Amino acid sequence: MNKIKVTVWNEYGESQKKPEVTAVYPQGLHEAIAGFLNKDPEIQAKTAVLADPEQGLSETLLDDTDVLIWWGHVYHDKVDDAIARRVVDRVQRGMGIVFLHSAHKSKPFMQLLGTSGRLCWREANEKTRIWTAASGHPIAVGIPEQFVIDHEEMYGEPFGIPEPLQTVFISWFQGGNVFRSGVTFKKEYGKVFYFQPGHETNPTYHHETVQKVIVNAVKWANPVVKVGPLTCPNVPPLEKL
Ligand code: ZN
Repeated sequence: MNKIKVTVWNEYGESQKKPEVTAVYPQGLHEAIAGFLNKDPEIQAKTAVLADPEQGLSETLLDDTDVLIWWGHVYHDKVDDAIARRVVDRVQRGMGIVFLHSAHKSKPFMQLLGTSGRLCWREANEKTRIWTAASGHPIAVGIPEQFVIDHEEMYGEPFGIPEPLQTVFISWFQGGNVFRSGVTFKKEYGKVFYFQPGHETNPTYHHETVQKVIVNAVKWANPVVKVGPLTCPNVPPLEKL
């Protein structure tokens, strides 16, 4: 069986090389994510970062990617418009994409969903309880009805997204806010999943259940089919006019 080829893309700028981040993710959170993905026999994950040639998102790399995972926060604007457009185009042609945490403000997220990505937030290391709202969904397989992350950044409603295909997870935060924290979309041939947990100074990607959600999301987003460039052809009639 062919493995699902995953690229974990992370901006990995200076903000992620501070001691409070490297204490949790010594090699960067992209390596942590690729690390647990590679424990799954069906997945083959590699990493790419903003400082790589072509910002880590060359056509060659995308040719070799079934599912792209995106982590960005401080450097969204450093991603070239042409590169963001390239990612959007690949999703429309079938590549799966999983947006994590602060990727709600990334260029590909906002373009794919036609949204500002707005939400409210609070960095108070509070407890979050994540509820599985769609227990029959492939991304929720093996995930309990609810689970707790002891310390996370709060993201709260209103979340400026179009109505999701399915809301798989809803989060409650200690401070009283709630958030649609796991949502799916389909954009032409490509599947899109957004998952909220994953602030860079919290050990969220070491959390076993969070890892399971991301593994499930990769398998769900794996393309059924990938197609060539999408065109708008002028076509002859099929019947006599
Ligand atoms: Zn954050």
